[in-house]
Amino acid sequence: MLTAYTLDRRDRILAVNPGWDQFALDNEGRSACADQVVGGRLMDAITGDAVRMFMTAILMRVRVTGQSEAVPYRCDSPTTKRRYVMVLEPLADGGVRVSHHLESEEPSNLRIRVRTADYGQRAPLRCSICCRVKEEGIWIDPFEDGKDRDLWVIHTLCDDCKQAPVQRYRQRQLRVPPGATEAMSA
Ligand SMILES: [Zn+2]
Repeated sequence: MLTAYTLDRRDRILAVNPGWDQFALDNEGRSACADQVVGGRLMDAITGDAVRMFMTAILMRVRVTGQSEAVPYRCDSPTTKRRYVMVLEPLADGGVRVSHHLESEEPSNLRIRVRTADYGQRAPLRCSICCRVKEEGIWIDPFEDGKDRDLWVIHTLCDDCKQAPVQRYRQRQLRVPPGATEAMSA
């Protein structure tokens, strides 16, 4: 299953792919359907300051470098671990195409219900990239913990997921293109 959208240079959603509405209704509900999101700002559709900053940084890097980027992440349903990859591709005029590719699904006997806590409410942090929840100072995967949960959470990023794109980017920069060392020493 693939969902994709195109952003203009100011991160407004210009278009979504034809299968979008079915996916939206299955996962997010009516408010995520095409007629509600097209023309709107991507950042208004993302919950959590840290998550917005993370997405802003990746979009900026894709535009500045002109290189595509792939970001692995989890987007679980209450009973299934789901691994996705988000691919961001630069387009002309500062646009970016963002597509989400389902890589694997792992059904569980557990039921992990997650809802967004009201602003200002005390609630555990949950990483929007790896779906782990911070409990007593430790990031845990609820699907690995062996018990059903009904969680009200604050959306953020764990330290590992904050660092991952920077590390991937640095590794890519370290791959020196063939011929470059000769050119540098010449
Ligand atoms: Zn994480």
